[in-house]
Amino acid sequence: MSNLEKSDELILSFDPFEGDFGEQGDKVFSNKMVVARKEGPCAHCGLEIQKGERVRSQSSKFDGQLMSHRWCALCCTAMALYVPDDDDEDSEVGAEYEARSRLAEKQKAEGQPCQS
Ligand SMILES: [Zn+2]
Repeated sequence: MSNLEKSDELILSFDPFEGDFGEQGDKVFSNKMVVARKEGPCAHCGLEIQKGERVRSQSSKFDGQLMSHRWCALCCTAMALYVPDDDDEDSEVGAEYEARSRLAEKQKAEGQPCQS
């Protein structure tokens, strides 16, 4: 298995909706790494995904509604950094990933240019 495949596996096994799923009928239909064909905001940080960027794409049924989400390359990298720690139940869940939450809004609020 190549390093790329290995990190893809880590990214795809990360559950961005941990705790939110659980309604009966909630289901993930597809969960894969794709090359973005159009621009649009990342589901997590809100920063713009560029055409050609390698992103995680997931479609699911959530609260009875069909949803589709994309995560930008940087959020995917943060997902890959997350290592589940079974020994410590209190360990911070995906700190790198959480740090990127609504990053676009934070950057806007601070008046900083959008940099990647
Ligand atoms: Zn993102």
